[in-house]
Amino acid sequence: MFNKPLLEFTDKGIYCAKGKFYIDPWQPVDDAVITHAHSDHAYAGHKRYLAHHLSREVLKYRLGEDIRLQTVEYGEKVMKNGVEISMFPAGHVIGSAQIRVESQGEVWVVSGDYKVEDDGVCTPFEPVSCHHFISECTFGLPIYKWKPQVDLFNEVNAWWKNNLAQGLATVIVGYSLGKAQRILQNLDLGNGKIYTHGVIENTNEALRRNGIQLQPTKRITQATSKEEIRKGIVIAPPSAVGTPWMRKFQPYSFGYCSGWMALRGAKRRRAADRGFILSDHADWDGLVSAIDATGCEKVYLTHGYTASFARYLTEIGFDAHEVHTLYGGEEEGAPPQPSPEGRELDDANINIANQKVSPSGGDLEGAVDLGGATI
Ligand SMILES: [Zn+2]
Ligand SMILES: [Zn+2]
Repeated sequence: MFNKPLLEFTDKGIYCAKGKFYIDPWQPVDDAVITHAHSDHAYAGHKRYLAHHLSREVLKYRLGEDIRLQTVEYGEKVMKNGVEISMFPAGHVIGSAQIRVESQGEVWVVSGDYKVEDDGVCTPFEPVSCHHFISECTFGLPIYKWKPQVDLFNEVNAWWKNNLAQGLATVIVGYSLGKAQRILQNLDLGNGKIYTHGVIENTNEALRRNGIQLQPTKRITQATSKEEIRKGIVIAPPSAVGTPWMRKFQPYSFGYCSGWMALRGAKRRRAADRGFILSDHADWDGLVSAIDATGCEKVYLTHGYTASFARYLTEIGFDAHEVHTLYGGEEEGAPPQPSPEGRELDDANINIANQKVSPSGGDLEGAVDLGGATI
């Protein structure tokens, strides 16, 4: 009898035939195990969901109160048709998990999205030993190297203070689940109050219902005065950029938080006054160290710079493979569209060349195609 691998890549998502469940499927299925609540990993329409309990309220807010959802703690074991499933912290956003699947001594881990730096907001990433590791590589180029979070937020708070001194409002943009809470928890309340766009406040409320303690925020409504807002800071989602909602805070200074701010030209294209390189994904070193720490025999790369990163991993001795998935659409899934002059591609290629990985602009284009630039 043909011996199927424990997990396989199908047109609906990552599938465990033996356990009859999918992990982060993008087509409706009976049993979906969900790594985290970002929309490219948690789709609507599945019959049953299994997720970490800190994803509960956000999943219900996003997918509907009536979804059939079972939640578990990190490390808790669930059996499905003789296959053992357990979740371990991915350090990406609150409630994010790596999925560990074991049957007859064979262990697979699906990373979902992850970062290795402890952000003080979500449970820190934990490496999990496995034979097969399915990893994202959103920022799998050596140009991506994050500075310590504490240094970055010192810059954010200093920028905010300076805006206050100049009588400018301050608007900081970050994705609603993950980035926004990370910004919120690191803002210096000694500077002033924190105001939020409705999309961000809805997510904050869902997290608070789940027992998460967040710094106090004020939802911006029609009644919130411009003068009041100017004395504080506004956290807004990327969708608010360039809208009348945002323009009404003028004059303001506008900061954009994203890992893509590491690319030359990204700040200019967003028309931002400040670009803060802040990501909820692992940087190059983080990816390599996380993959190494699993001790895996094989690694499969799901989204990001999969082709060049697979080549690099192969060169340093891993059995690495690129796989096709539909992840990478939301949040930081894909780099912004390269500018016509292709400056970002130049930057990326120079740095890859230094790392002795064959440069290929095709990878960048592929990543753009994968999910469209939504940041
Ligand atoms: Zn994500
Ligand atoms: Zn993702």
